[in-house]
This record gives sequence, structure tokens and C-alpha cells, in this order.
Amino acid sequence: MSRNLYCIANFKMNKNRSETVFFLDQLNSLIDIKPKTRLVVCPPFTSLTKSRDKILIGSQNINSNESGAYTGEISSEMIKNIGAEYVILGHSERREYFKETNQEINKKVAIALKYKLKPILCIGETLVQRKNNEVEKTLKNQLSKSLENVKSDIIVAYEPVWAIGTGETATAEIIIEAHQIIRKILNDIGFDGQKISILYGGSVNRNNARELIALNGVDGFLIGGASLDVDHLYDIYKFIEESF
Ligand code: PEP
Repeated sequence: MSRNLYCIANFKMNKNRSETVFFLDQLNSLIDIKPKTRLVVCPPFTSLTKSRDKILIGSQNINSNESGAYTGEISSEMIKNIGAEYVILGHSERREYFKETNQEINKKVAIALKYKLKPILCIGETLVQRKNNEVEKTLKNQLSKSLENVKSDIIVAYEPVWAIGTGETATAEIIIEAHQIIRKILNDIGFDGQKISILYGGSVNRNNARELIALNGVDGFLIGGASLDVDHLYDIYKFIEESF
């Protein structure tokens, strides 16, 4: 079963517009052919631009409403209109700092799909949940609630919270097992788990990417910190590209 492979950069709240344009130009010049890997850069709202032929653009968030009196918010239509094609939803930082619930994320998934933005749905357990043997329960809760009434194609990013920005990458065993659990849950809730790309995220860098992309069921990465350096991101992308 061949699924699309992804290399997705999450800039978080880093890089202004000119820094992002410079980064995209540099990255574009490093890539000499149209990649087989879907290379997606998700900068802050102020740096969103049209997708290019070698680099696709995604947003890091959207509002769950279509339009209206939501001061300071950005809609799916606005993101789509600017030329972005993807949106990260349910990132653990949004769940933690902005109190996003699975129900809210479910509304965002639906509105994103309505505007033909491809959701990159982030799920993952905390360290406490892992220590309490609640990994499967947590993933099931996040997937079933965030994807309620969703039938379309989505991307899932398995991001154990304890591995994000910590330098502590999950072990091969943990990643393989979590990806298997996620595929099974997807099957149980009406998707074909074999057809959904599942990415790993959590302290991926140029030193561990080659090993991680070789793991069974891993269809690419969502990368935070290491994506801010163009040479690092390019190296990670190359390891994915070489894995085809
Ligand atoms: C992320 O923010 O999604 C992420 C995986 O961050 P990092 O690569 O820095 O752990």
C-alpha cells in the first residue's frame, strides 16, 4: 500500500514575513526536482503565501466558524484564498495553552475540509497518560471525537506531548506501536487506516530522521524546532525522499 509521504515544517511563532520568504527561496533553490515527498511549510499567519511547485503551504490554525464577529481570528476561507492548502489542527500547544477541546477541533476539521484545506490532525499522549497505560484510550478519545462525522481524507500526526520540543524522541518501539494503534482505531471509526498517512512528530532532527523514516508505518514527519534551519529541514526532507 503506497501512501503519500510528508515533510511538514511547523514554524510556530517564529520568522516574520521577510524571513519566511527568504527561507522559502533558499529551500526552493536546494530542491532541484519536484519532490515525491509532500514538503509543506506552515509559517505564522502573517507569512502565509501561495503554495509553490516544490513547497506547499499550510496554516498552523483556523477558527472553527465560517466568518463573523470573532475579533482577531482567521477563517478557513481566508487561508484558502491566500493560497495555502493544509492546516495543522489540534497541536498539543493549542490544546494546552488555548484549551482547545476535541469537540472544537472536530468543528475545525469540518470547516477546513469544507474549504478544501487538508487537515493535519495532531494527537498524542502526555507522559502521565503513558505512565498510567492510557495511550490507546487517549488516542482513541482524540481520534473518535476530533473526527466525528468526518469522512474525507486527512493526515494524522502522532506527537507524544513529552517528545515535543524536549529533545527526547520516542523510541522506535513506541512509534511503531502507536502508529499500529492509530491505524486500528481509524479502521474502527470508519476510515481505511491503510490509506491514511500517519506522521511522527517530536524532536525529529537531521540526526534521527533517517532511522525514523525507515520505521514501519511512519509516513513522514511534523517538525518544529529543527524546521527553522533551512539546511536541517532540507536534510530531513532528503532522508524522506531517499526512502521512496
Ligand atoms: C511540533 O511542534 O509539532 C514538534 C514536533 O516540535 P519539535 O520538532 O520541536 O519537537
